[in-house]
Amino acid sequence: MTQHVIVTGGAGYIGSHACKALRAAGFIPVTVDNLSTGWEDAVKFGPFERCDLLDRDNLDAVFSKYSPVAVMHFAAFSQVGESMHDPAKYWRNNVIGSLTLVEAAVAANCLNFVFSSTCATYGDQDNVVLDENSVQLPINSYGASKKAVEDILGNFQQAFGLDHVIFRYFNVAGGDPDGEVGEFHQPETHLIPLMLDAISGKRDALTIFGTDYETPDGTCVRDYVHVCDLVDAHVLGLKWLLEGKGSRVFNLGTGDGFSVREVIDHSRAVTNKEVPYVEGARRAGDCTKLVSGSERAVTELGWAPMRSNLGEMIADAWRWHQTGHYEK
Ligand code: UDP
Repeated sequence: MTQHVIVTGGAGYIGSHACKALRAAGFIPVTVDNLSTGWEDAVKFGPFERCDLLDRDNLDAVFSKYSPVAVMHFAAFSQVGESMHDPAKYWRNNVIGSLTLVEAAVAANCLNFVFSSTCATYGDQDNVVLDENSVQLPINSYGASKKAVEDILGNFQQAFGLDHVIFRYFNVAGGDPDGEVGEFHQPETHLIPLMLDAISGKRDALTIFGTDYETPDGTCVRDYVHVCDLVDAHVLGLKWLLEGKGSRVFNLGTGDGFSVREVIDHSRAVTNKEVPYVEGARRAGDCTKLVSGSERAVTELGWAPMRSNLGEMIADAWRWHQTGHYEK
């Protein structure tokens, strides 16, 4: 019998790619999304249930309709800068919304849960190689909200046996090479799509947020991972849970750090166009450097990232940028 998986945020960037990967792996992804930042056009691989995570009655109805074997929980607000100005938005949606979802899952006896967390839970730890055992000291409300959900999952494991796999992402980039889905945020705040907008003249110039960080070229360093590799790990995480292997945390990165200036250089090389940019002030909440390898995901899950080199990520994003978009 085909197994249903609830995918919250399935109409968003990462969730829509996860739905495609789940479908390819033989599952039926059921997108649960309130379309606050997602796109119905991106729901292509299974049923759609328009539902807010704070709406417990509606969630209960969805669980009872599909009897899912697992939840993959992507739905969240994810802008570091905004989270510093509007923390309540992050705590209400990301934390209370997740709590409501977790309660609904437990009530429906759906005890396999894959959670989309972030390296922002580690905070700014200079000269420390981040791994899954690193101390978590988030410096922005976004990271704090994700860490709170990780803690909720631990408590629900103890109380109700909610098995969970937590993935802490580094910077997700690129898009489906077939162009069926891609990255499309309104408003856009992420580096690579903003840069491609600037290159193609859709916006004036990119602002580099801070050039006085303690990094070799003064700009922040991030570890970019291809969205297709990332969602492949989620399918492996789901299978891990369904095989009864229990709760586990995995970082998802490549171990290679690129500064903002290096991303600009790669974008110039891939697109063969100049990147208009100006140098600006630091953005509140930004960490200096977030880089991690994923040895645990590779050795334990058998994760084999195939597309996570920066040039390929930018090339896939560029192809989508020129052709793809969604309509409300
Ligand atoms: N960044 C930038 N200009 C922008 C957007 C982002 O300089 O217009 C920088 C940001 O400070 C960070 C990196 O690019 O160092 C990646 O930011 P993004 O918002 O893409 O992801 P985050 O690391 O915040 O999750």
